[in-house]
Amino acid sequence: MRRKIVAGNWKMNKTPSEAVALCNELKELVKSDSVDVVYCVPAIDIVPVVEAVKGTNVEVGAENMYFEDKGAYTGEISAEMLVDAGVKYVIIGHSERRDYFKEDDELLNKKVKKAFEAGLTPILCCGESLKQREMGVTMDFIRFQIKSDLDGVAADQVKDMVIAYEPIWAIGTGMTATTEQAEEVCKGIRDCIAEMYDEATAEAVRIQYGGSVNAGNAAELFAQPDIDGGLVGGASLKADFGKIVNY
Ligand code: PEP
Repeated sequence: MRRKIVAGNWKMNKTPSEAVALCNELKELVKSDSVDVVYCVPAIDIVPVVEAVKGTNVEVGAENMYFEDKGAYTGEISAEMLVDAGVKYVIIGHSERRDYFKEDDELLNKKVKKAFEAGLTPILCCGESLKQREMGVTMDFIRFQIKSDLDGVAADQVKDMVIAYEPIWAIGTGMTATTEQAEEVCKGIRDCIAEMYDEATAEAVRIQYGGSVNAGNAAELFAQPDIDGGLVGGASLKADFGKIVNY
């Protein structure tokens, strides 16, 4: 039985003081015994947010990291820095990073491996564009992403990680994938993991849906057999996030 996981992706929103205020606003609303709750926050918010959620059921995630240990990589943050600051999860390969910052699968594979090495849980994002969906290559494209990004990653590591299926056309657009579309791809990802590893690994890995999840559609999406929660952008910045956690 996989435990649900609902993660907020705050993106480039909230100054450190606004971030602390949001944690305080959400504190009671996101309480849950049955769902893992994660706030993935901008790098500069990590330290105050870790402090603000101490003693609660919320874990903190980063939105990105670099794969090198240390050195001349101006502007980057290492996995070790995140761990030392109290971070448990890290989003890797969000479509905004793939698109705007040209992060390719070879780089993302290095990041995934480094995250595991450091003891972080990767939330690996994958998902097709509208054009790819219309061309009928959705699953081919996602299988390519998964296989490339997990190249050389062990089954025991995959069992502990999170994969987020995020159709690019549904992110921040208000256009949610239908429940059937979301379940179909999440199941396809699980089948891909079973082929790459084995059934036990496929049964253990948690697969989220992300793309305009809100308080109105979370319950139906999260009730699907292969959807183990959500990665939530816009709605994670307001009180509605509590309703999504307690769907
Ligand atoms: C996201 O950024 O991961 C996301 C799913 O955003 P939104 O919920 O706003 O579509």
